[in-house]
Amino acid sequence: MYDLASRDIKYLTGVGPQRASLLGKELGIYTLHDLLYYFPYKYVDRSRIYAIHEIDASMPYIQLKGEIVSFETAGEGRGRRLIAHFTDGSGFMDLVWFQGIKYLLNRYKVHKEYLVFGKPTVFNGRINIAHPDIDAAEEMQPSNLGLQPYYNTTEKMKRSMLNSHAIEKLMATVVKQIQEPMPETLSTKILQEHHLMPLTDALINLHFPKNVELLKQAQYRMKFEELFYVQLNILRYASDRMRKYRGYIFSKVGEAFNTFYSHYLPFELTGAQKRVIKEARKDMGSGKQMNRLLQGDVGSGKTLVALMCMLIAKDNGFQSCMMAPTEILAHQHFETLKGFLKDMDVHVELLTGSIKGKRRESILQGLLNGEVDILIGTHAVIEDTVEFHALGLAIIDEQHRFGVAQRARLWSKSINPPHVLVMTATPIPRTLAMTLYGDLDVSVIDELPPGRKPVATIHQYENRRAQLHDFIHEQIRSGRQAYIVFPLIQESEKIDLQNLEDGYLRIKEAFPEYNVCKVHGKMKPAEKDAQMQQFVSGEAQILVATTVIEVGVNVPNASVMIIENAERFGLSQLHQLRGRVGRGADQSYCVLVTSYKLSEETRKRIEIMVRTNDGFEIAEADLKLRGPGDLEGTQQSGVAFDLKIADLAHDGQLLQYVREIAQGIVEADPQGLLPENAVLWKQLKTLRKSNVNWSAIS
Ligand code: ADP
Ligand code: MG
Repeated sequence: MYDLASRDIKYLTGVGPQRASLLGKELGIYTLHDLLYYFPYKYVDRSRIYAIHEIDASMPYIQLKGEIVSFETAGEGRGRRLIAHFTDGSGFMDLVWFQGIKYLLNRYKVHKEYLVFGKPTVFNGRINIAHPDIDAAEEMQPSNLGLQPYYNTTEKMKRSMLNSHAIEKLMATVVKQIQEPMPETLSTKILQEHHLMPLTDALINLHFPKNVELLKQAQYRMKFEELFYVQLNILRYASDRMRKYRGYIFSKVGEAFNTFYSHYLPFELTGAQKRVIKEARKDMGSGKQMNRLLQGDVGSGKTLVALMCMLIAKDNGFQSCMMAPTEILAHQHFETLKGFLKDMDVHVELLTGSIKGKRRESILQGLLNGEVDILIGTHAVIEDTVEFHALGLAIIDEQHRFGVAQRARLWSKSINPPHVLVMTATPIPRTLAMTLYGDLDVSVIDELPPGRKPVATIHQYENRRAQLHDFIHEQIRSGRQAYIVFPLIQESEKIDLQNLEDGYLRIKEAFPEYNVCKVHGKMKPAEKDAQMQQFVSGEAQILVATTVIEVGVNVPNASVMIIENAERFGLSQLHQLRGRVGRGADQSYCVLVTSYKLSEETRKRIEIMVRTNDGFEIAEADLKLRGPGDLEGTQQSGVAFDLKIADLAHDGQLLQYVREIAQGIVEADPQGLLPENAVLWKQLKTLRKSNVNWSAIS
């Protein structure tokens, strides 16, 4: 069999050291195997040849056959260009290049027959094709004129003439070298049962499809395989973990839980809250370690669910911890829990980076000797110096800020791993959840506490600020409070901070009779807390802020959320921000302020926000608009990033299908011993070795 993985790309005809180094640096292609797994991002049908007189500038890619009559150079400096006057007998058209003029003049000859391929555009009032692909007509086999693959390349590569067409040629060279089948990466059983194309055929057809039908089969086979291994990987880890560790058994619901439930619970639990608590209780009593993801839209009441789970832990003699991504949030949880528990005999402590000295020591002592029942904190909770007497349950709020590695550190905190409940208010599309948290069981709170009015969302152009201020006035006069949020991103931090300061002054000027406070991530924690506190207590009516207030902040009296430069926020961020209002009984409003000129995508984002409050719908839309790589939370996990061909926005059904197959295999062959699966375990091992993110999943 032909081992492509060991063949260095630089020995491929047409590559050489310089191009090899570019391919490595720009695309991570080092071997023939890497190249072959670099898939086209689209295909263009080249079976049709157009006549020049048929062409207009609205057409996508078109193909012509004819000859160059003459060359001409025109323009100066950056506008300097090479023009080839081209004819096919039916008319004339110009081909234009702005780069590589010398090379092109050397390469292409007048009165020779060429196939020209590109997108017609209008330049200087005439239709032409800029930077077309040109091949000698005699070199193009009829079979090459079917679907042509297109490969992503970078600017650097294009400057070295390594464009899509060049990659296509390299690919053709590699494919020609494959004389016998490559080692199969799926088992015979799977290939047969699911009617999959053999690997070698699939790879060849992905690059040079004979027809659309074969291309589809090839794509299906490769997507199947890709998603299958993602699932097999996760499920195998989960199964190994399950066999290795026992879970603490919380067999009873005792005094703490019952007292709280009968005497302290300030409102009736929603049906969804009850169901989720039941699911968690069942897990924690099962003898297996709980690994559950709790998804619930902002304001759905996850904190209370967390508290009740922690009371179950206490009733069984265990401690709990709850981690939040920011100090503000940890503080808020601490206050909320103390408020819920009132005079109950439950010892809750708060630990953050800014709690130091004696205070810190006494908390650490209390944790070690078991006096502290519940610890609320930030990342500080997972530091090595924090030791528990018996940590039985760890709750992670707003998971997407915690990396997988941090989650893993919890395990060293007790003999058996604690039960883990991950809570997130960023609804995750199902496909993404299955991929990122495929080892977690999922609970969903799909019901808001009663009496909530959906937030009304309005799109407003920034030149109508006077009306906006009137509106804020009106709301504050009736006793409400308002948030005004500005974007702050690292790349433009200075300008953004200035923007926020300007906005703050403008607001102070417009609302002289009210208190305006301000928080942003660059402030010292103490200062931030003090400002925040003003708003929480109601002393300040307006809070000017960056997205630091995105998660968790709970001020039920605030009914207005103004988002400035809304075009610069992603959908999930906008949704999170909107979730800060609508927490009380009053009608709340979210105003998305944008400039007049908006891109198509931005317009869509704003439209979705105005149309729906459903977090899941928004998450799905976000996935479709941006793709999984850009979604919050996927960065740390990496997995969704590495997909080469499958697409979580569109391959949900296939994902579900292969997950079930992988599940069946892990269940039937938990130790990886069945000969029929040998290929699978071997391939999984190879993938884990070559993919850092895969082995990091704990
Ligand atoms: P999130 O899921 O966003 O973390 P919270 O736990 O902060 O939501 O809850 C939002 C608000 O709803 C809080 O003020 C909380 O006290 C309140 N709440 C929670 N559960 C209920 C319920 N069953 N009935 C009424 N209000 C509730
Ligand atoms: Mg919360």
